[in-house]
Amino acid sequence: MNHDPNCIFCKIIAGQIPSRKVYEDDDIFAFHDIHPWAPVHFLMVPKLHLPSMAQLTPEHERLMGRIMVLAPKLALEQGCNPYPEGGFRIVCNTGAEGGQEVHHLHVHVMGGPRPWFKG
Ligand code: AMP
Ligand code: ZN
Repeated sequence: MNHDPNCIFCKIIAGQIPSRKVYEDDDIFAFHDIHPWAPVHFLMVPKLHLPSMAQLTPEHERLMGRIMVLAPKLALEQGCNPYPEGGFRIVCNTGAEGGQEVHHLHVHVMGGPRPWFKG
């Protein structure tokens, strides 16, 4: 299924729940995390409802590659300092033991001056 009507991130993508948008194209949506751990903290999600990285197959290689290539550009635009003194952290929590709470695949992008709220 492309969308899960009960999924909070599908609702954000559809504009049914408000978010602070960072970026949008046909396949990818990015928005600020509501509880930031760092001065810059946004989430990048595929518009396609995938519960987690555990469901990825070779057909998603281009989509996930696009997210990874876009992340550094958006990080700089959102105020992360340039590499190597600055940089950013990418986190993709997967499953209960991976600390995943929202089951729509999302990539956390965090950055900005230290200290951060969570390590
Ligand atoms: P995870 O533990 O990786 O599943 O993290 C889910 C993230 O989604 C958390 O950092 C939450 O703060 C964030 N989040 C949950 N609801 C919203 C929302 N409505 N808008 C923005 N971020 C959200
Ligand atoms: Zn979803």
